[in-house]
Amino acid sequence: MRTQRQVVDYSLRKRAVLRELLAGRVGTYDVCDASPYLKNAARFHGEPTDERCPICRSENLTRVHYIYGDELKQSAGQARTLAELPVLAMTLREFQVFVVEVCLGCDWNHLVEQYLLGRDGLAGDPEGGPEQDAVGGAAAPGTRAAGRRRREAQR
Ligand SMILES: [Zn+2]
Repeated sequence: MRTQRQVVDYSLRKRAVLRELLAGRVGTYDVCDASPYLKNAARFHGEPTDERCPICRSENLTRVHYIYGDELKQSAGQARTLAELPVLAMTLREFQVFVVEVCLGCDWNHLVEQYLLGRDGLAGDPEGGPEQDAVGGAAAPGTRAAGRRRREAQR
C-alpha cells in the first residue's frame, strides 16, 4: 500500500515460537488459543491465504487486520478487510494496522506484522528528492568560478 510505513515484521518471533514448540518447551495449548472474537473477525473480515497452518497443517491461515488510532474513535481496535484499508488510508492522517494470522482449524494465532497507514505518509514523499539533487549538482556558478580561478592562475 502506498502510504505504508514503519513496518515491523514479526516473522522471527513466530519462528522462535515454532522452535519452542518443536522442542517441547511450550505446548500447543499455549499457542493455539485464538479467542472467539479473533475467530469471528477471521471469518467475517479475514483475508484467506495460501499458507498452511504451521501447527495442524490441515487448514490455510487467515489474516486479520486490526486498526488502531485516535482518529478512528469508536472504530479503534476493530478488524477491517484488506480492501477497506486503502480507503481509510486516504481519509485518515495516520492509523496503526496489526496483522494477526489465525488458523480456524486448531486456533493457532500469531502477530505477523504491524505498520502505519494514512495520508501523512504522502507528505515527505521521497520521490522528487533525486531531482532536487540533480539541480544542485548542475551548479553552473561553481563551474564558472573554477574557470575564472584557472584564468587568474594563468595571468
Ligand atoms: Zn492449524
